[in-house]
Amino acid sequence: MFCYQCEQTAKQEGCTSFGVCGKDPETAAVQDVLINVVKGLSMYARRARDLGKTDQELNVFTVQALFTTITNVDFNADHIEKVVQKAVDLREKAKNMYIEGCKEAGKEPEELGEPANWQPPEKFEDLVREAEQMQIDRRMEALGKSEVGLQELILYGLKGAASYTDHAQILDYEEEDIYARFHEFLDYLTTNPTDIEELLGKSLEVGKLNLEVMALLDSAHTETYNHPEPTEVEIEPRAGKAILVSGHDLKDLKELLEQTEGTGINVYTHSEMLPAHGYPELNKYAHLAGNYGGAWQDQRREFDEFPGSILMTTNCIQKPRDSYKDRIFTKGRVSWPGVEHIEGYDFSPLIEAAQKAEGFSEDAGDKSITVGFGHNAIAGVADKVVEAVEGGDLRHFFLIGGCDGAKPGRNYYTEFAEALPEDCVILTLACGKYRFNKLDFGDIGGIPRLLDVGQCNDSYSAIKTALLLADAFD
Ligand code: SF4
Repeated sequence: MFCYQCEQTAKQEGCTSFGVCGKDPETAAVQDVLINVVKGLSMYARRARDLGKTDQELNVFTVQALFTTITNVDFNADHIEKVVQKAVDLREKAKNMYIEGCKEAGKEPEELGEPANWQPPEKFEDLVREAEQMQIDRRMEALGKSEVGLQELILYGLKGAASYTDHAQILDYEEEDIYARFHEFLDYLTTNPTDIEELLGKSLEVGKLNLEVMALLDSAHTETYNHPEPTEVEIEPRAGKAILVSGHDLKDLKELLEQTEGTGINVYTHSEMLPAHGYPELNKYAHLAGNYGGAWQDQRREFDEFPGSILMTTNCIQKPRDSYKDRIFTKGRVSWPGVEHIEGYDFSPLIEAAQKAEGFSEDAGDKSITVGFGHNAIAGVADKVVEAVEGGDLRHFFLIGGCDGAKPGRNYYTEFAEALPEDCVILTLACGKYRFNKLDFGDIGGIPRLLDVGQCNDSYSAIKTALLLADAFD
C-alpha cells in the first residue's frame, strides 16, 4: 500500500505497510481501485453531459464514492469491494448514456483509456494485486513526485468537497453544475497531467469548488434548521440513559432526536457535532442534553467511558475497543468490520443499546460553553464590533480553524490562544477548538473573545465574517 492523504501519515512520508489511522493494505487497495473506477465513470459522465445527458444516480454515487475513501470513514474492505462492483455497473450505465448521446448527435464515440475499461478480477487477491499498479508510488516513478503530488492534491480537494456535497444532498440541496465539475476534474486526472502550472491552476479551481459547495451546505443547514444562535451548551452529563452522536450529519441527529423524544434518553453531541446545539430547530429538543468529550482522537478512551450507545454519522471513526464495539453504530459512508451499520433512519438498534447500557447515575455538574456564532449571529452584533474597533478596544480577529491531529503534545494552538492580547478576538471552527474551548477568555464590551463559528464546513461562515468586516471597515 501507499497512502499519504492525511497529516497522520507515517514519518510524514506515507503509510506503506499499514495505515497509522488503522487502514489495512486490503482496504487501501480497494479504495485505490474504487477511485480508479470512479475516474472511468467520470470520463463517460463528462462526455455524456456535453451531449446533454445527465443522470442523478451517477452524480450522487460519484460524491458518495469519493467520500467513502476519506480518512477515518470506511475501513471495511468487504464493504468497499461491493461499492467497487456498483461503480463498475454505474460506469457501464454512464457508457451507455454516452453512446446513446453520440448516436443522437450523429457522432462516433471516442475510444477511452484504461479507467474506462478496467474490469475487476474475480478473486479478491487478484484485485489487491492489480491495485498495486494504481498506487501513488508507482505513478510517481512514471510521472514524477511533484506532478503526482499535485494530481493527488486535486483528488483530496475533491474528496473534501464530496463530503460536503453529500451532506447538502442529504438535505435535498444540490446543483447540477457542481456534479458536472466533479466529473470534469476526475476526467482531467485520467489524462495523467504533468504541467505543473496547469495542475496548480486546477488545484485552485478545486478550492473555488469547495467554497461553492460550502456555501450550498450553509444554505442547506441554515434554511433547514435556521441560523445558529449563541447558545449555552452543558459539558457535564445529566443522570439518565444516554446516546452520543459524533460526526457532522445534522439530519441524523434531528431524526434521532425525534425518535428518542419521550423515551427518557438524553442525547449528547461529540466532537464535530457540537455546533448542532446552535441551530434552533435542533436545540428545541430538551433532551439534547449537552456535549460530551473532546476531539476525534480522544474517542477510544471517551467512548469506553461513555455509559450509553454511540452513533458515528461521518468521519472520524477510530478502531473501536472491544469494550464498546457492541454499542457503537455506523451510519452513512462510515463502516468498520463487525460494527452494526444503520441503513436509512430507523435508529431502533441504537436506542435499544442505550436502554440496555447503564446510563449516567447522577448529574455531574453545570459547566457550560457557548457555541452558535455563525455569520448571521456575528452580523447581528456588527454595530457592537464596529464600535469596539473604532474605540480601540478590539484590535484584531484571529481564526484558529481546522481539525486536530492525533499526536500528543500538540499544544501550539492552546498556547497561542492563551497568549493572545486582551484586545483580540478568536474565531474558531472544526475540532481543533477542543484544545482551548473550555478556557475562559472573557469578553470585549459584551462580545465574547472566543466565538465558535461551527464545524469544519463552517469555514465558509468565517469567510463570510471576514468579508463582513472588510465591508464594515471599507
Ligand atoms: Fe496513513 Fe490512513 Fe492517513 Fe492514509 S489515511 S496517510 S493510511 S493515516
